[in-house]
Parts: sequence; C-alpha cells; structure tokens
Amino acid sequence: MSVHYRKQNYECSKCQAFFLPYKIGIKCPNCDASIDEIDTREYIDVIKSIVDSMELHKLQHGRYFPGAWYTGDFMDHVQGMMYQIFDAMEKVKPDDEEKYLMDLLENKFDWGNQLYSKKHLKDIASEIYKIYKDKNFDEIKSREFIKPIPQRKPLTKWEKIKKWFDKFLP
Ligand SMILES: [Zn+2]
Repeated sequence: MSVHYRKQNYECSKCQAFFLPYKIGIKCPNCDASIDEIDTREYIDVIKSIVDSMELHKLQHGRYFPGAWYTGDFMDHVQGMMYQIFDAMEKVKPDDEEKYLMDLLENKFDWGNQLYSKKHLKDIASEIYKIYKDKNFDEIKSREFIKPIPQRKPLTKWEKIKKWFDKFLP
C-alpha cells in the first residue's frame, strides 16, 4: 500500500508555475511573487504529510519508494522524488547526508525547463531532512523484518501435533 495525498496543483497566479506553498511567507520559486496566506493555509501540512507517508512506507516496505507509484499531480511528483533520494541516501550512507541529497537534486534529475523546481525541491528536501533526523527515520525497521523471537526450547512431539490440530479448530 502507498499513500497519495490529494492536493490540487497550486499554480502561481502570475507565472503559472506549479509548486507547493508549504509555509507562510513563501514566494513563488519561479517569479518571486508573494503568495496570499489564504492560499498557503491549504498546503501548510504538505511537509508533514510527505514525512508521514515516508514513515508508513518504510514500515510497510522497508523503503520509502513503494513498488509502484502513480504520478497524477505535482504533489505525487514531489513525494516520488523525495522517496527516491532518501532511499538512495540510506543505501549509500554518505558522511554528509544533507549535502548528498542536495547533490542528487542538483545533478541526477533532468529538470528541463522547470529549473525553478530544482530550488523548490531542495528546500522541501531540507525541511523533510530536519524531521527525518529528529525522528531517526534511518532506524525504522520494516514490519516484514520484525520477526517474533524464536522459541528457544524445541516443541515436544505432542505440542507439534497439538499445534497442527489447533489449525482445524473453528
Ligand atoms: Zn510565479
């Protein structure tokens, strides 16, 4: 299972750039236009939402990027990129984690004519990284890997039979 958040694409009223106005006082990353606080309010939980989905995905799948990810809107797009870079970071284990994330965003994606997105995604990644460190996300273990502690004492023959029989009880 993966978590998508339904956030309508936010478009700058001046330049029509897509972005996530995730904090009060944020400006359009493309044209620097000021954004109305009333617009921002709807997106104020965006960072927390992404972090929550990361936590859930890691618990469920052992990584942030779920097997399949449908990119239906800008929020999906941002979520998908964050999953990929944080997964890569945990695999590589760089000394300077934040720098590593920034380098990935700088060099590993083709931003085409959406260069403003690069800075925007870097800002979002930094915000996420702060929470990631606070909550020790790198220590999250997938439920799949949390096995019950094995019984030290082997089952007796009778216990084995009883266990087999129990399965047939209503
Ligand atoms: Zn703009």
